[in-house]
Amino acid sequence: MPEAKSIEPRTASADAGSIRFFDLETPKKMLRAGIEKRWQKILDHGAFIGGPEVGELEVQLASWAGTTHALAVASGTDALVIALMGEDVKANDAIFIPGFTYNATANAVLVAGATPVFVDVDAHTCNIDVGHLEAQIDAVWKEGQLRPRMIIAVDLYGLPADYEAINRIAKAHGMLVLADAAQSFGGAQGGRRIGALTDMSATSFYPSKTLGCYGDGGAMLTDDAARFERWSSIRWHGTDAAKKESIRVGVNGRLDSMQCAVLLSKLTVFADEMKARERIAQRYRLGLGNAVEMQHVPAGSQNAWGLFTVMVDNRAEVMKKLQDQGVPSSIYYYKPLHQHMAFAAYAPKGGLPVCERLAERVLSLPMHPYLTDAQVDRVVAAVKGAVL
Ligand SMILES: *Cc1c(COP(=O)(O)O)cnc(C)c1O
Repeated sequence: MPEAKSIEPRTASADAGSIRFFDLETPKKMLRAGIEKRWQKILDHGAFIGGPEVGELEVQLASWAGTTHALAVASGTDALVIALMGEDVKANDAIFIPGFTYNATANAVLVAGATPVFVDVDAHTCNIDVGHLEAQIDAVWKEGQLRPRMIIAVDLYGLPADYEAINRIAKAHGMLVLADAAQSFGGAQGGRRIGALTDMSATSFYPSKTLGCYGDGGAMLTDDAARFERWSSIRWHGTDAAKKESIRVGVNGRLDSMQCAVLLSKLTVFADEMKARERIAQRYRLGLGNAVEMQHVPAGSQNAWGLFTVMVDNRAEVMKKLQDQGVPSSIYYYKPLHQHMAFAAYAPKGGLPVCERLAERVLSLPMHPYLTDAQVDRVVAAVKGAVL
């Protein structure tokens, strides 16, 4: 039909030209046939909860990360909550978290019934400041009200936190480390992948994360068999392996078979996607040069590039100029957590100056594995024009 012919090229070229901040469409088109096949299999076998896809996914996640165990759960937030519940945290347990992260990190601590202690971040990596972490731990010991129990390090925008220092500090104080790797699955540090860098890790499969499903999802990773057994039980209402006895308080934290099927399909291209993210990030960095400050990636760390973030002073103006050029941009995050209503009671005296300053300056640019070189160059040119 002539109509179809005239419409199709126009749609295709508009698509190729428009720059998406995230791109959920391209992988969906690429993988759709395979996902539908897996979904049909689930409709046939009928094991919507706890189907064979769940175990298959867990084996692949552990194998990717290089851990002994992986547990699929209902969301990244559930992963954090279950990890905290697994250590039986109480109100007098201090859980140290960065002030500049998604609210889920703080919510998880409070939902699990522990007490968050906010720590400032590094102005260049945007991750937890290990100097301030030590100061906050010392202050809590000195005060004598709470027991320093755990550090939740967040890999902001995909960059692994400084696990070498964090693990050392935790060990010195008899504390545990939980990696909130919701933004960093696929990243690495010192030749080891995210998931295997500390005692335990939690990640998210929210659709726009580096590995995303088509709904909510998450996973937990560890090498500790006893810890993994506790998590498995908590995920399934706190029941024993035979599903007969409630042996502890638990939650419904399961990931369903349909989402596991999506993730199994997504994993077939994940290694290629991670390579593409790295290539695109390097093109951004080379192109932007000294025009703007960018998140610093320390030697030995491999950023998963969940987001590509720069820091600018006149942010509202820059955003407007980018928008006029057809370049989407976004702010993660407008406000540090200690300034939110729900967490204000835990705000440190004197605030968290670096978190507060970053919240005014950060700006994330389009980042997904399907950006073309021409698109990256257009973003670079638009940013350079906007910050002049
Ligand atoms: C996305 C995210 C979470 C929460 O994950 P959900 O799957 O949405 O529950 C937790 N922490 C960080 C840092 C995140 O970016």
